[in-house]
Amino acid sequence: MYRGGIITKTPEQLDQMAAAGRIQARCLQMLQSKVRPGVTTKQLDETAERFIRSQGAVPSFKGYRGFPGSICASPNNMVVHGIPGPYELQKGDIISIDIGVTYEGWVADAAITVPVGEVSAETAQLIKTTRASLFDGIAMARTGNRLSDISHAVQARVELDGLSVIRSLVGHGVGREMHEDPQIPNFGDPGEGPELEEGMVLAIEPMVNASGPEIRMGNDGWAVYSEDDSMAAHFEFTVAVTADGPRILTPWHEEP
Ligand code: MG
Repeated sequence: MYRGGIITKTPEQLDQMAAAGRIQARCLQMLQSKVRPGVTTKQLDETAERFIRSQGAVPSFKGYRGFPGSICASPNNMVVHGIPGPYELQKGDIISIDIGVTYEGWVADAAITVPVGEVSAETAQLIKTTRASLFDGIAMARTGNRLSDISHAVQARVELDGLSVIRSLVGHGVGREMHEDPQIPNFGDPGEGPELEEGMVLAIEPMVNASGPEIRMGNDGWAVYSEDDSMAAHFEFTVAVTADGPRILTPWHEEP
């Protein structure tokens, strides 16, 4: 059903999306366990594609507007949309891994940023804050709230910790298409935008730079970097607005 351009899903459809989300989350978890010095982003990509297809699902990103990978793998100062390749992870790196899974026609989209071995205290904080800002945003994904309540919660947490939300990249609705309405900025005043209703499904995805908020495009036409080459982190979950509150459809849990 369309509500102001936003396609809401029935409870049965949310369960179908959750099935896609479970495959997605298992894939993220598996890749996280494979992150170590010497591993290439191409190897991570191949592992992901093999797993996703073994589940009877399809990597949503592959071929999307010509994107060659099954995952986006974005190390260090790269924010998002990294094409997997020969880059070998090194101790002290961080790697942002974004995966879309299409299962029985429904898309689940989520991302995490993972440290490669020990990282600096500042970088560990960047990851921690970005993850926390995602959960602060998710907490606002409730009926009766407005869309920008999510945006505001993300921004507030990030800026409280002295970091910068990227303003020119946004989250999005998700369903049968990877990118549906609405766009979900990671900044803004609360109480604006559409009212959140049951059955809306949102890919909430804070993208955070350790220094200034500006970004630049890479030469391959995909990769997005922090303009000042500071470290950047990205966390994303697919979340449904339900009568019982926010329902995370990509239930990734950090390893203890
Ligand atoms: Mg997304």
